[in-house]
Amino acid sequence: MSEVKLEDIVSLAKRRGFIYQGSEVYGGLSGTWDYGPLGVSLKRNIMNAWWQTFVDSRDDMYGVDAAILMNPNVWKASGHVDTFTDPLVECSNCKGRFRADHLEGDKCPNCGKTGTFGEARQFNMMFKTNVGPVDDDKSISYLRPETAQGIFINYKNVLDSFYPDLPFGIAQMGKAFRNEISPRDFIFRSREFEQMEIEYFVQPDKWQESFDALLADIHEFLKSLGLPAESIHELEVPDDDRAHYSKRTIDIEYDFPIGREELLGLAYRTDFDLKNIQDNAGKNMEYTIKGTNDKFIPHVIEPSFGVERMIMAVLTSAYREDEQNGEKRIYLALPEHLAPVKYAVSPLLKNKPELVAKAREVYDALKKKHGNVMWDDNGNIGKRYRRQDEIGTPYCVVIDFETLDDDTVTIRDRDTTEQKRIAITDLE
Ligand code: ATP
Repeated sequence: MSEVKLEDIVSLAKRRGFIYQGSEVYGGLSGTWDYGPLGVSLKRNIMNAWWQTFVDSRDDMYGVDAAILMNPNVWKASGHVDTFTDPLVECSNCKGRFRADHLEGDKCPNCGKTGTFGEARQFNMMFKTNVGPVDDDKSISYLRPETAQGIFINYKNVLDSFYPDLPFGIAQMGKAFRNEISPRDFIFRSREFEQMEIEYFVQPDKWQESFDALLADIHEFLKSLGLPAESIHELEVPDDDRAHYSKRTIDIEYDFPIGREELLGLAYRTDFDLKNIQDNAGKNMEYTIKGTNDKFIPHVIEPSFGVERMIMAVLTSAYREDEQNGEKRIYLALPEHLAPVKYAVSPLLKNKPELVAKAREVYDALKKKHGNVMWDDNGNIGKRYRRQDEIGTPYCVVIDFETLDDDTVTIRDRDTTEQKRIAITDLE
């Protein structure tokens, strides 16, 4: 387990405008979270880093962005309508409902009584909705509980447009919805969240090498987000716990403040999904090796990342406390490419128009170049540093009277708090 406390992260996230409870003014909506100005930047930076690593920098990956609402046959064929369930129990005393496999013993976590749970029943986690103006069985559709199926139903489209050689992958990032029985642990278990998934299509007898290569790529990516290797663990999911169609699954677990829990999964799904589509949609899903008559349904390796869990892991690994001049300091040691703000620019004194004007000049130039630059002239310099430390800004730039003479500024490093005098032209 991480030394960092969950409440410290939740409180910083709210105080500094990263993440708020969804619909908070109305008392909230359980399992939903809203991203504030800094949260949305952090989230986008993580998602952009993922896309850059797994799609843009490779030539074996294709991106898609499928509709969230899909033909309900997608979820029948995939098995979600029948089996995307969690075991639900109800307490006969307080009527509280709980996920049976998350309970410890037979004591109700709500009212504390024991022996009040009835038989567990299977609860389907898909959110149902109706598409179109008629509210009947024929119009039922579902909010997608994973992004993966949006990829599978476009496999043939990508094949026909791009003729990729095997192995190749299709990637998608976007919202997923699960009616979790008990959402909990901040954003870790939400009802609305985002996923970043890849379906990597391979020749059946070559799945192992792609599985190993993707596993190595995943570790590289986690390292680039600043997650320490000692907090990352591979769990080889045993036969009994794996989905029946999966021949091998590794859960990548992380030492969160709530304990060691799943961060993402890597699964070898055989030809289960494409075969189901072929059988149910009646469309041929086979791949023909170029220049041969060798035809088969490709097998699939699926890396499946949850964005919220990545955010929580990044915040956990970046959260630091130390002492500066006898005072406790909190800071986020975020890697530069994830920090919501890269530079904060301040005039030393905000009531000196000449300093403000010069600082504006520096700010405008940096902003034009980097975008994620913040103007901060609130409170004294010490307060500004504290605030910027808490949101993980790597560099604070201060414009003072010396700047007016020699075009140099003070630049302060977040992690070491060291200050240096450098020329404005060297700021980059
Ligand atoms: P868990 O066992 O924790 O419920 P899962 O095995 O059902 O997760 P998958 O179906 O494998 O999860 O989904 C892939 C990834 O999506 C997970 O590794 C996780 O990062 C993310 N994820 C799944 N459910 C949630 C959720 N309710 N809230 C946030 N992220 C989620």
